[in-house]
Amino acid sequence: MVTTPDSAVGARAKYEPVIGLEVHVQLLTESKIFCSCSTRFGAPPNTNVCPVCLGMPGSLPVLNKKAVEYAVLAAMALNCRVNETSIFARKNYFYPDLPKGYQISQYDKPVAEHGSIEIKIDGAKKKIGITRLHMEEDAGKSLHEGFPEAAEKTAIDLNRTGVPLIEIVSEPDIASPEEAYEYLTLLKEIILYTGVSDCNMEEGSLRCDANISVRPRGQKEFGTKTEIKNVNSFRFIREALEYEIDRQIDVIESGGRITQETRLYNANEGKTYSMRSKEQAHDYRYFPEPDLLPLVVDEKWKSEIAKQLPELPEARRARMVIDYGITEYDATVLTYSKELADQFESAAKAAKNPKRVANLVQGELMGRLKAKNLEIGQSPISMQGVAASADLVESGAISGKMLKDLYDLSFERGKDFSAVYEEEGRPVQSSDTSALEEIIDELVAANPKQVEQYRAGKKTVIGFFVGQVMKASKGQANPQVVNQLLSKKLEG
Ligand SMILES: [Zn+2]
Repeated sequence: MVTTPDSAVGARAKYEPVIGLEVHVQLLTESKIFCSCSTRFGAPPNTNVCPVCLGMPGSLPVLNKKAVEYAVLAAMALNCRVNETSIFARKNYFYPDLPKGYQISQYDKPVAEHGSIEIKIDGAKKKIGITRLHMEEDAGKSLHEGFPEAAEKTAIDLNRTGVPLIEIVSEPDIASPEEAYEYLTLLKEIILYTGVSDCNMEEGSLRCDANISVRPRGQKEFGTKTEIKNVNSFRFIREALEYEIDRQIDVIESGGRITQETRLYNANEGKTYSMRSKEQAHDYRYFPEPDLLPLVVDEKWKSEIAKQLPELPEARRARMVIDYGITEYDATVLTYSKELADQFESAAKAAKNPKRVANLVQGELMGRLKAKNLEIGQSPISMQGVAASADLVESGAISGKMLKDLYDLSFERGKDFSAVYEEEGRPVQSSDTSALEEIIDELVAANPKQVEQYRAGKKTVIGFFVGQVMKASKGQANPQVVNQLLSKKLEG
């Protein structure tokens, strides 16, 4: 680990970071935002293109209704106000992978504004504002590798041109790299729940740019910001911000000034590098897109879209804590993905005792997963398996000890509970009373003192006998039957 001199630590404490995040999310529509070309990822280069997305003269854009619905759905999930009228605007810049010479985006009248989400930081809640959510089209891709003449040439793939995006811009409410990480994690979770994007970072369905500045603690005005672009994991964004905060403080402390610029993060070195000085907003010469009407999302349409809004993760966790009597931590684990939460809930509802399903997940499944370093999605025992095992315990067919053994076998064999239960010949716990009575007779004879105590009124002693019987039967005995037989014998 690199040690930091005390003087440097002192300097760091004098400053506070101000972070704002811009997140681009690709919407999961089948066709592009202004034409009917496919949005499928991984198609051969330049096969999903047409005159509209190639920007041929005379071609006209037609807005994709589904893209609007997805954008509005995401906006609602992020507590944004959806504007009844929003305007598409041309953002003019030249780039080789932008054939029209402008990108259709939204500028001063975005589809939604004034949202927020609540992150948890050190156990406390913190609201992070969302300034705006707007719709835009994606640009193409410049390829620098993966084709024969890559050493001398750059190739252009325009399949991505015109793929629908939403850009979600946060308020500069984020005060540390950790908060940025939490914000992004929660944002992604919410978007995934709405189903409007797969948020796949490797395929570029979710991209994040970070604006970062530092200022002396207590100062109102912001310092000069830099923008970190194209970081492809949340962990790298956290690292890039950590590096950039230190770099900016060092520059200021040594009497220098921060230049407003775009920087790239090199994950191998853990450093950011200057890429280009930042264009000012007016350099884009935004003006209303003349080929598209204003977008109107009226109350009727809005309420139709609102009906598609699923229960969101935070609300779901709160409800699950109440419905199934589980802890907040367990609810967090069980809502890791919507799919898992759906599975858990259908298993819990299908089982005779939902609380038992929750208990088994917490008590028997999580521990085994942790020991094997597995995510819940990799569990050999499915939620249906947990529900089936819960019912077997509930009906008294198997004991808790037998369930534990069967779970161990499931993990050893990498098979689901029901398969292992079949392989083991559908074992049932012993309620063969003659064998049990024999064990109990021996125990009663061998422990006269405890029998005396029981008969003198210390009824809790029965627990000692139950434990002994269970041990002697290697966990195969039905505890209920054992209890009945014991009470009868001990009453004398
Ligand atoms: Zn097209």
